[in-house]
Amino acid sequence: MTITTHATIIDGKAIAANLRKKIAGQVAALKEMFKLTPGLAVIIVGEDPASQVYVKNKGLAVTEAGMQSFQYTLPATTTQQELIAKIELLNSDPKVHGILVQLPLPKHIDEKVVINTVSPAKDVDGFHIENVGKLVTGQKDALVSCTPVGCIMLIKEVLGDISGKNAVVVGRSNIVGKPVAHLLLQENATVTIAHSRTTNLHEICQQADILVAAVGIPQLVKASWVKPGAVVIDVGINRVTLSDGATKLVGDVAFDEVFEVAGAITPVPGGVGPMTIACLLTNTLKAACTQHGIKVPAIS
Ligand code: NAD
Repeated sequence: MTITTHATIIDGKAIAANLRKKIAGQVAALKEMFKLTPGLAVIIVGEDPASQVYVKNKGLAVTEAGMQSFQYTLPATTTQQELIAKIELLNSDPKVHGILVQLPLPKHIDEKVVINTVSPAKDVDGFHIENVGKLVTGQKDALVSCTPVGCIMLIKEVLGDISGKNAVVVGRSNIVGKPVAHLLLQENATVTIAHSRTTNLHEICQQADILVAAVGIPQLVKASWVKPGAVVIDVGINRVTLSDGATKLVGDVAFDEVFEVAGAITPVPGGVGPMTIACLLTNTLKAACTQHGIKVPAIS
């Protein structure tokens, strides 16, 4: 008799929905007790259709949680100076507790300068150099990048304590790979960061109890790379064209085959993606509380 096992699918959509419900409860309590409504401002420059969808979804989630949503769509011809002036206005607007500048920005604008213009206290994307420094040095008041926080929540949902586990993060971007690695380190995992110049990538991945793929290459991670029983978090979102010309979203992990080997795996879509938006709400709530000297409620 052959016994076949396969992975548990980590339902990011359901976990995120639960988190959003808890956040909405905390927002209602803030309004009731402190007359405070957290506000998130999102700025989009240009008309990139994917960015517009992301921004629209973020706005809907913010409103649904009972927060105030402010959206600013600026033309693609906006100068860096004009964008900075807008951010500075929002930095000093007391109704706005979080500011997010949707990336990518048009080529003539320096993203680094823009990111570091956002007040660190309102930097709900966690990209400001001050928040990155706080993350790396383990300071609890850091606003941390949303996708990495979402990944850790999903991992902990499956494993609970991850202390001492071998974690491999494939990808070293400032937005996902590096912050995920730092958060795993904070949870006392033993962390390896792999990237485009890593040799023997598959052998390194085979050591992982926790494997996070944040690469942007469709279905890069194969079943033979995965240790049986490992928890696999697929951050990748790649649109691929099928033989019939239709398109579909796939991750950085070859889901169908890895599903047969892993202990738990996130689907794409419906895994990490929904957590990103939920964690943006958490960060906005945290920013609003901190700015008003209110104890930040524990939500997880
Ligand atoms: P990025 O392009 O900034 O970084 C990709 C990283 O992958 C780099 O550090 C690079 O060194 C590494 N890499 C490239 N080729 C490699 C290879 N052959 N082997 C090993 N490593 C390699 O991308 P990013 O912003 O970190 O995003 C990664 C993926 O995650 C993308 O598909 C993106 O769309 C997705 N993403 C999803 C969410 C979400 O909410 N689910 C959020 C952010 C990004």
